[in-house]
Amino acid sequence: MAAGVRAFAVACALLAAAPAAAEPVALTFDDLPVFGPVRPVAEQAAITRKLLRGLVRHHLPAIGFVNEINLEGADRAARVALLTAWLDAGMDLGNHTYSHLSLTRTPVADYIGDTANGEVVTKSLLVERGRTMRWFRYPYLETGPTAETRRTFDDWLTTANYRVAPVTLENSDYLFADPYDAALKAGQRRRAKAIRLEYIRFSAAIVPWYRSAGLALFGRRPALVWLLHASKLNADSIGALAKIVHNQKLTPVNLDTAMADPAYRTPENYIGPNGIEWLERWSLTLHRDLPWETMPKPPKDIADESAALDDEPVAHGTP
Ligand SMILES: [Zn+2]
Repeated sequence: MAAGVRAFAVACALLAAAPAAAEPVALTFDDLPVFGPVRPVAEQAAITRKLLRGLVRHHLPAIGFVNEINLEGADRAARVALLTAWLDAGMDLGNHTYSHLSLTRTPVADYIGDTANGEVVTKSLLVERGRTMRWFRYPYLETGPTAETRRTFDDWLTTANYRVAPVTLENSDYLFADPYDAALKAGQRRRAKAIRLEYIRFSAAIVPWYRSAGLALFGRRPALVWLLHASKLNADSIGALAKIVHNQKLTPVNLDTAMADPAYRTPENYIGPNGIEWLERWSLTLHRDLPWETMPKPPKDIADESAALDDEPVAHGTP
């Protein structure tokens, strides 16, 4: 067999052996510029650079949701530059309210004011680049405790030309991020590494669960929208997260592409105080159960430590 023919035969065999690509996934990062405790801006810049470098290297499109309250202070220009870095890296930005309010615990008029106040800087950065601000992500995924609150805010979002960014995949990254930051701050590098490994292991287990939950709900695998946070943990783990995406054969796409999946036109009418994800919302609408009994739980040591850190009177990151 001539070398060219042999190479062609090998290529065909490889193509035949390669599993078909699975469903698309869009990565979304909340609490920009950086999730977690208050840090010097140089540290925030290093985290942002590492996270963005990883996203670009692994061809992962992403959108970051900003809390503009986190830009305040003497280093404001340098913190705004972190948002610019997201856009320069080819990513998108959206609104996560100014001060990360809970719609369950905030009068809707105040919440609307805070959301309007939360777009000032981000919108101007987008407009400077000929782009528009289109995406809103609810803090705590709380969409309104009463029908009236929900309707009022939904109407405001429509008037302000926002689309809601849902969540159909999440790996409780915020639970791991606080103990990780605390271990690093205390100089406990081995503990930090152990937390990071637990995080990767849990993520590798929960991603297939969400895929199977989507399949159970729709009879096919819908595109996924993955909630993450702009944390040091994720900056240090982005290569491993990319590997999970790759191993699951998921196709990384931007949020617009994921949202073009007709699954995202499924109505969801959840009214209540809890911040629940969209697969659960749709399971209520469609009257179909999700396979909760097989859902992996975060490790107990992480859940306990995260809860203990939350009880401290120090400002910690918020999901
Ligand atoms: Zn958040």
